[in-house]
Amino acid sequence: MSRFSLADLEHRDQFIQRHIGPTVKQQEEMARALGYAGLDALIDDTVPSAIRRSQPMDLPGASTETEVIARLKALAAQNVVNKSYIGSGYYDTITPPVIQRNVLENPGWYTAYTPYQPEISQGRLEALLTFQQMIMDLTGMELANASMLDEGSAAAEAMTLLQRVNKKNRSAVFIVAADCHPQTIAVVKTRALPLDIEVRVGDPALLLGETEAFGVLLQYPGTHGHLCDLGALVEQARAANTLVAVAADLMALLMLQSPGSLGADVALGNTQRFGVPMGFGGPHAAYFATRDAYKRSTPGRIIGVSVDRRGNQALRMAMQTREQHIRREKATSNICTAQALLAIMAAFYAMYHGPEGLRRIARRIHRLTSIFAAGMGELSFTPENATYFDTLTFDVGEAQDEIVTRALAAGINLRVLDGGRLGVSLDETTTREDVKTLWRVFAGSEVGANVAALDEAIDGHPGIPESLLREMDYLTHPLFHDYRSETEMLRYMRYLEDKDIALNRAMIPLGSCTMKLNATTEMLPVTWPEFAGIHPFAPVEQTAGYSAMLAELEHMLQESTGYDAISLQPNAGSQGEYAGLLAILRYHQSRGDDQRTICLIPSSAHGTNPASAALAGMQVVIVECDEKGNVDLGDLRLKAERHSEELACIMVTYPSTHGVFEEGIVELCEIVHGHGGQVYVDGANLNALVGVAAPGKFGADVSHLNLHKTFCIPHGGGGPGMGPIGVGAHLAPFLPTNPVLPVPGVAADNDVVSAAPYGSASILPISWAYIALMGGEGLAQATKVAILNANYIAHRLKDHYPILYTGTTGNVAHECIVDIRPLKDASGVTEEDIAKRLIDYGFHAPTMSFPVAGTLMVEPTESESLFELDRFCDALIAIRREIDAVQAGELDAQDNPLANAPHTLADVAADDWEHAYSREQAAYPVESLRRYKYWAPVNRVDNVYGDRNLYCACPAVDSYREAE
Ligand SMILES: *Cc1c(COP(=O)(O)O)cnc(C)c1O
Repeated sequence: MSRFSLADLEHRDQFIQRHIGPTVKQQEEMARALGYAGLDALIDDTVPSAIRRSQPMDLPGASTETEVIARLKALAAQNVVNKSYIGSGYYDTITPPVIQRNVLENPGWYTAYTPYQPEISQGRLEALLTFQQMIMDLTGMELANASMLDEGSAAAEAMTLLQRVNKKNRSAVFIVAADCHPQTIAVVKTRALPLDIEVRVGDPALLLGETEAFGVLLQYPGTHGHLCDLGALVEQARAANTLVAVAADLMALLMLQSPGSLGADVALGNTQRFGVPMGFGGPHAAYFATRDAYKRSTPGRIIGVSVDRRGNQALRMAMQTREQHIRREKATSNICTAQALLAIMAAFYAMYHGPEGLRRIARRIHRLTSIFAAGMGELSFTPENATYFDTLTFDVGEAQDEIVTRALAAGINLRVLDGGRLGVSLDETTTREDVKTLWRVFAGSEVGANVAALDEAIDGHPGIPESLLREMDYLTHPLFHDYRSETEMLRYMRYLEDKDIALNRAMIPLGSCTMKLNATTEMLPVTWPEFAGIHPFAPVEQTAGYSAMLAELEHMLQESTGYDAISLQPNAGSQGEYAGLLAILRYHQSRGDDQRTICLIPSSAHGTNPASAALAGMQVVIVECDEKGNVDLGDLRLKAERHSEELACIMVTYPSTHGVFEEGIVELCEIVHGHGGQVYVDGANLNALVGVAAPGKFGADVSHLNLHKTFCIPHGGGGPGMGPIGVGAHLAPFLPTNPVLPVPGVAADNDVVSAAPYGSASILPISWAYIALMGGEGLAQATKVAILNANYIAHRLKDHYPILYTGTTGNVAHECIVDIRPLKDASGVTEEDIAKRLIDYGFHAPTMSFPVAGTLMVEPTESESLFELDRFCDALIAIRREIDAVQAGELDAQDNPLANAPHTLADVAADDWEHAYSREQAAYPVESLRRYKYWAPVNRVDNVYGDRNLYCACPAVDSYREAE
């Protein structure tokens, strides 16, 4: 018998082989099939030696799942979950458990992708449409989008939208009410500066009287609780041709006149308190609603109603080709990944409670606040705001310290303000006992005030002026009435989930999007109360666990990228780009180089790159690519020289968006540096680099890291994500901060790109856990297998489809572009036909027509097993045979399984079947579908119809019935 030790047995418990699809043996076999002695030989031949890491990452070895959970539990235990009355845009809430477990904690929802392919996304599209309907109802606006990243950035987007659409007042001044949340004001100011918008903060009634302004931002209710006379302010603004954006609290709107009914042009805000935990700042869905007339300049994604090819109702993302970032440097917003999962949660929260339930929650909050106020009056604490919904601010002068001390001793966080003031915001979780405790805390002794007696004595809604009270005129659609029992709710959510393809069903081979495993262990901490229940502005003494976890994550990301400092603030890749470009501009300005505002961008870049550059006030100069798809270094030299004095930076993706390790990257960095420019490497493709090469070491100055790509945060059906940036030491002083909770290590007056100091902090444990589980070597192995899997697919497909670009040794990086154009010319079959036919084969389509029109870009990631890679290749090869049959005339040029894809169960089961091919061929073209069949709920969706007949609300129920 062979000897073995305990250590050998424990080794088997490692996570690495659960994250990586192919077994070690298969990896070696696959490498040999590609003509290499082994995996390392493939990597040596694929990754240019000039950029290879000389040293491994300084990260601990892999931990087991049990160890990682124990370590995170210990970190979480260092956080103190106090009762929060801090408010300022974040409130405690009760996540209905049926939503927590079946949506937030359910891979069927959280591993889905952005619904670009509507046929496999009808479930989440319906949920997002419901979100839009809810927002339209509560804000009284004509149109709402399907979420924004946070309230601060939504306010900034409102500002730029108002400037664009205000043709009557071309002033460059934007008024911001001083009682907006401080973090919102800070984000707006940062956004305004490079666009030469002058922000004036103050009393809006006064400022509107004395200043020409294109727009004004109001907070409703104000950050300290006061309710402005919104109708009067809107009228005053209108008279001056100033357009109005209102940052409105959704819970308050259940009782207050809507911004839309009072004439506002934009309404925006956070939907966090509709069942989404505070999470130390996020993720939450912000909302954005406006007039129908402004729909084409609205930021973010909008879900609309269209029809499929049988004329049945089907949903889709409206105006996809106008998606802001696709307009590149002409874009007015750079938002790409948004907050789909959290928007869906908020919509389900509204469905779960219905209008009466929501109104009861809102009225209860207001009533408790009124009772609290009356009791405080008896204690001689008079709030400074006479009107209120849920927030009161008191001037307690010298007593501030002792009250705060008593509060902390009672496990309570108050909002501590300048000048001896304290704020108290009540929420859904506040109880009678809590109100009594608050009285005790303020008074410093047992008090005589009596909740029941005050309740008896108070009439009506004392905090809300009669003119602002609202009827219950919202959420009348049956969707908000039909799912009140948990059984019905559960089944409705399951019904929607079943319509969609997420990673728990099949591979999602989306180039550039890195749809890899989001392991359950990584996800568990997200809903732990010690991470989820923390207010973003909680005292630092209470967030030691977060601080330690974030510091460790920063170190992990530094090691992964080779940079010297990390900012965890940006909420998505797009926001990271923006933050990184601002840091570059500030760096140049600090050296007196204010004129350096030109940004070079290769023609192959992702649309967010030029869009971010435009938002940062930069001028975009395009650098051409050569016929091999590489950045044309000759053209780069020419343009860098031409703009030498004004060159701010280049933005380049590495490996390129063409899926190739360009040999010229080091030289590219040298050319740009030689002209005084900085190098921004878009880190979306970091999955091909971690542990193998580091942008911070091969010449780049700054990168964003899409944690929802390389570092395992799930895509959530279009968000959340996180886009921290890594920078070299010289850019570190210019990283963003927060006005309420300053970020250590940077100046307090630095830029502010997100509302919360660490963005969507509560999903950061996912990336922390991934890195801890893999360890340094595991991460490098993941990168190698990602490259292996892509090359394996390219190898299997290359005799059937041309692979568009490869590196000098004939290999691709971690993704490959399949060129459909020659086939299209020869057969008439389009890349879209193939994408839709893949649905019949049970797969989500690859990325379509990015970065090259008429192509499909496949990225398998390391997490897909050899079995699944083969199943996918088999599908594409079978489709190729179908194309051949069309080309040969064996299948009809119009009536063939490709043109008619996807086929629904109703198609195949119908009594009449009029096609020239069989039902069997339509639905079960390959044997493996006996087991893996997925039925698209709709036929191919008509994009043009949807945009011509734009309808972005929930259709009447009858129309659903017709559809079914
Ligand atoms: C995904 C992606 C982005 C945008 O990132 P978001 O997180 O969606 O904002 C930018 N560049 C590239 C190359 C990408 O693939």
